[in-house]
Amino acid sequence: MIDIKSLEKEELQAQLQKQNIPAFRAKQIASWLDKGVLSFGEMKNLPKDLQETLAKQYVIPGVAIEKKYVSKIDGTVKYLFSLSDGEVIESVLMKYKHGWSQCLSTQVGCRMGCTFCATGMEGCKRDLLPSEMLSQIEVAQKDNDIRVSSIVLMGMGEPLDNYENVLRFLELLSEEGGVHIGMRHVSLSTCGLVDKIKELQQLNLQLTLSVSLHAPNDAIRLQLMPIAKKWSVEELLAACREYAKTTSRRISFEYAMFDGINDSKECAMELAEQLKGMLCHVNLIPGNTVAGSRTKRSSASRLKEFQTILDSKGIPVTVRRTLGADINASCGQLRRGDREEI
Ligand code: SAH
Ligand code: SF4
Repeated sequence: MIDIKSLEKEELQAQLQKQNIPAFRAKQIASWLDKGVLSFGEMKNLPKDLQETLAKQYVIPGVAIEKKYVSKIDGTVKYLFSLSDGEVIESVLMKYKHGWSQCLSTQVGCRMGCTFCATGMEGCKRDLLPSEMLSQIEVAQKDNDIRVSSIVLMGMGEPLDNYENVLRFLELLSEEGGVHIGMRHVSLSTCGLVDKIKELQQLNLQLTLSVSLHAPNDAIRLQLMPIAKKWSVEELLAACREYAKTTSRRISFEYAMFDGINDSKECAMELAEQLKGMLCHVNLIPGNTVAGSRTKRSSASRLKEFQTILDSKGIPVTVRRTLGADINASCGQLRRGDREEI
């Protein structure tokens, strides 16, 4: 069975043409897929026999709302979506001044095993298909009668560990007719798969690359992220420098602050030294305390102090606004039913 929703428009047309399906029918099918339908029976202007023929050869993978939580504080919406094989993923919809932004999952779970992350605790069940990533946006748009204007690949999973599918999804995302979100409105967050960052660099895309750094050196990074065994901070930052230079795009470094681990003044000084001269921006995140993990959130004063040091060294830095604090709107926490300590 072919995943018809993961085909680009031209591929879809070519594929249907091979089956002698007339071009006007192919257009109708594409238009239904753009509307987010998940069965051929819903394609009302197609003859029954064509619907049946298509259903024998193609599948339309997508997501369905399993649970939905709306934050009373700021209107953030968190979804648990179910997939056709019964697996469950998360996605969060956030309202900003400039419009709606959605955080998408790219895998069911994650194999990277970061010690502070709820998603990483259960390993990776499977990669998401391009169609399943797209469907998260379509379903959220329909459910709220809105248009999503930007997306971040910061939900469950490591996007660069599902490289081919994520890239295909990005192609589908920017196609006209469908969700139609351009690369400049996309952020891709990675724990730092250096080989893939280099591959991505070759494509020279206009998306924002976010790198989850969380430490200024290997000794500390190793306590938090097993990926640090594979690539050193030095190798990762060298790749980031190259990436920023080639694409002229500012790298966004994510730095989650955990009490007594990576939040000292010395860490801030070392980080500033490491990032000196790079086209980048640091996003400080109050670390979320997750059940089963030893890491605890840093105090607000530690965060402030860290920010001030980076600032004084000329490193652009902001503290991330916490949205949906009452609904566990952080990576992997909802699915596991953890209660965040605030
Ligand atoms: N795998 C990718 C993208 C998904 S995780 C990555 O690691 O970048 C999205 C972001 O949430 C990452 O920056 C990750 O480090 C962060 N994150 C995960 N668990 C967290 C926690 N308990 N507290 C704060 N940030 C966390
Ligand atoms: Fe995976 Fe990102 Fe969680 Fe690490 S932080 S386990 S890379 S999802």
